[in-house]
Amino acid sequence: QHKLERLQAADKQHFIHPFTDSKGLAVKGTRVIERAEGVYLWDVMGHKLLDGMAGLWCVNVGYGRQSIVDAVSKQMQKLPFYNSFFQCSHPPAIELAQKIASLAPAHMNNVFFTGSGSESNDTNLRMVRRYWDLKGKPSKKTIISRVNAYHGSTVAGASLGGMSGMHEQGDLPIPGVVHIAQPYWYAEGKDLSPEEFGLKTAQALEAKIIELGEDNVAAFIAEPFQGAGGVIIPPSTYWPEIKRILAKYDILFILDEVISGFGRTGKWFAAEYFDLQPDLITIAKGMTSGYVPMGGVIVSDKVAEVIKQDCGEFTHGFTYSGHPVAAAAALENIRIIEQEKLVERVANDTSPYLQSRLQQLAEHPLVGEVRGVGLVAAIELVKDKSLRQRFDANVGVGTYCRDACITHGLVMRSVGDTMIISPPLTISHAEIDELVAKATQALNDTYQHVKN
Ligand code: PLP
Repeated sequence: QHKLERLQAADKQHFIHPFTDSKGLAVKGTRVIERAEGVYLWDVMGHKLLDGMAGLWCVNVGYGRQSIVDAVSKQMQKLPFYNSFFQCSHPPAIELAQKIASLAPAHMNNVFFTGSGSESNDTNLRMVRRYWDLKGKPSKKTIISRVNAYHGSTVAGASLGGMSGMHEQGDLPIPGVVHIAQPYWYAEGKDLSPEEFGLKTAQALEAKIIELGEDNVAAFIAEPFQGAGGVIIPPSTYWPEIKRILAKYDILFILDEVISGFGRTGKWFAAEYFDLQPDLITIAKGMTSGYVPMGGVIVSDKVAEVIKQDCGEFTHGFTYSGHPVAAAAALENIRIIEQEKLVERVANDTSPYLQSRLQQLAEHPLVGEVRGVGLVAAIELVKDKSLRQRFDANVGVGTYCRDACITHGLVMRSVGDTMIISPPLTISHAEIDELVAKATQALNDTYQHVKN
């Protein structure tokens, strides 16, 4: 207890946390996580928690992987740092670029490395504009994104994202980024069927391209399913219609796979899962399973040719682009995913099991919908199932449920009243059973709370 109090006091005094209401935190006290193994976390008081979020959707291979520690340590001894600027390179980054090219869709054979998902989306913004400059179409600058998208926290990342709470802080978005409707049928579909709504929201892209003029649009950016927005999986009609529109107009397609990449959907990339042909894929998180920070952009041959052949110097990069230690961690992480056949295991085993177990929660009086893909899922908490009617925001039902999960030893995230699950890809059937049992207890507690 003494240790926790000491840490909480120092935290309160010195630590400004990302995405945190510091005043609220000061009342509750920080939850201090000290160690982890497999799918479990332990806080400083020794409480064990099942991590239903894989950290922040990133610890794909689970915690405590000694072979990643060894790979990192060996690389640190050999070459702890060198840059990839000015014609320099080093073996881990070269091998990683080659490896990722072998896993990515066939038409994508190059990687630009960064330190995070946000930096990767900044890179995308500059790369697509540079591409069109070099193609002799400098007016093609605007990027179309979607409301309630999450593409990171840098100025470009937060601008590309469609979170109003983020735009309000810092005068965003920057010029040249516009947002269209999201395919969130459960919240916004009203009387339309999911299929009708999917088609309608996809057609907003065509309307926006026509409104802006094709000659002014550089790219469309989207997550295959929105993660931070609430695990929003587009209706089945959405992606085919987007594909039709993208094929009709000459604009680039950026697929943000920071969450979905590296096995989350039961494919290496969700591009394959949803049958999409992006020009650029944003990656981070599962690339190293979060053991060391790293991100990147997988670049299609069409774009890479222009950037590599015609550009002269592409005046963009980060000190840590292709960091050798991060690259070593990524290579070992990918080796584990391959060796343990985690992608296949998600597709054929753990995804069907998790999704069918979670569907049983749809019977709960508080649950309006359970949806998911691969090893990611959302549970919508509602006041009235048949009307898809939510609780008033001030009831804070999602936050209450999240805290109840913690009480029962489970980490779930709440996005408003949507509960989110995204466990490590290594999760076993027994651990899935435990997750569902704990979630059920938390739902029961929450139901008692809102009834009273
Ligand atoms: N894009 C998506 C889809 C994300 O979910 C995230 C982070 O959650 C990012 C980009 C930003 O990545 P980072 O936090 O590594 O900058």
